Amino acid sequence: MDQNKYFSLFACCFCVKGAKEGIIIDSQRGAFLAVPNELIPILNKSNQHKIRDLIEQQYPHLERGILAYFGKLVEMEYGFLTSEPERFPAIDLQWKTPFPLAAGIVEYDFSSASFDLIHCLKLLEEQCCELVQFRFFNQVDVAQLDKTLVQFSQSRFRRFEILMNWQSYKQHKEALNELSETHGRISNYGIFNSPVQESDNKITHYTFPMEPGKYVERVGKSGFLTSLNHYTESLKFNTGLNGKIAIDITGRLMNHPAHSKSFGMIQDTETLSRLLEQDDFLQQQRILKTEVQPCKSCQFRNMCHTVSELIPGEEGYKMAHPCSFDPAANEWRRQTESSLKPA
Ligand code: SF4
Repeated sequence: MDQNKYFSLFACCFCVKGAKEGIIIDSQRGAFLAVPNELIPILNKSNQHKIRDLIEQQYPHLERGILAYFGKLVEMEYGFLTSEPERFPAIDLQWKTPFPLAAGIVEYDFSSASFDLIHCLKLLEEQCCELVQFRFFNQVDVAQLDKTLVQFSQSRFRRFEILMNWQSYKQHKEALNELSETHGRISNYGIFNSPVQESDNKITHYTFPMEPGKYVERVGKSGFLTSLNHYTESLKFNTGLNGKIAIDITGRLMNHPAHSKSFGMIQDTETLSRLLEQDDFLQQQRILKTEVQPCKSCQFRNMCHTVSELIPGEEGYKMAHPCSFDPAANEWRRQTESSLKPA
């Protein structure tokens, strides 16, 4: 290795320190790599000092390790050597969105509906909501769903996710396949209480059940988000909840159907615009992982989109629905199932 050069991570790569181990997120390739925490301050300044100066002046005791890691990171294309580090400026980390609403979760039961689905969708569309995640309980009325989606075939919605339980899916499998062919905006089906955990094209099966007012999102390595958009959003907001709204099975307006707080009923609402600017509605969206125990010391905090309600604890906030990762031990406490794509 030419030690007269500088080592630099690619601008799309970000280091995150954890309690016991760190990671480098590659936001361009959608990957991440575990690295020792001790390497992170070195990586943060390696493009300001030639490799030889960095080692001799600051880390003579770590020479072998630094050279081995720089070599490995070059080989794995997380970084490169250069004589002109000033030609590679840092990436802009501002996060902006033109949409007040990224996603709406809608719990609905066709057999005992508490609210008008069309009215609900109109209110979401008015806010330029990009994605609607339907959570259908009991039997799905495919004909009625088709009619509803036809009404929004020219809408600003970009994607519909449809979650249901296995019994209903089994009964309507063919009709649901036709429905997704007719409505190109149906991006995927999530099937719960399935006999097997598997994923096939647009359909993902989960073995655990989906119930009204309960979490179905499970935090796990396979569900982490590594995009630049997610990383930059995570520096400003609680990504699991930011820009989202939920309508639970009774019509309550919430941050998430499993949370304890509600903000009125969809049946009594003519527009969502005031609610989306209300401080108490936005409060959960604004809490950073660095304020939450134990997320503040977790190396996955900028990729994780947990939707747990956050409640005040002794040291900042804690999760009402804790995940199974223990940053202090750097261990998953039990087997996690893959998480759903975030709403
Ligand atoms: S500790 Fe927090 S940030 Fe880490 S995986 Fe669990 S929920 Fe996500």
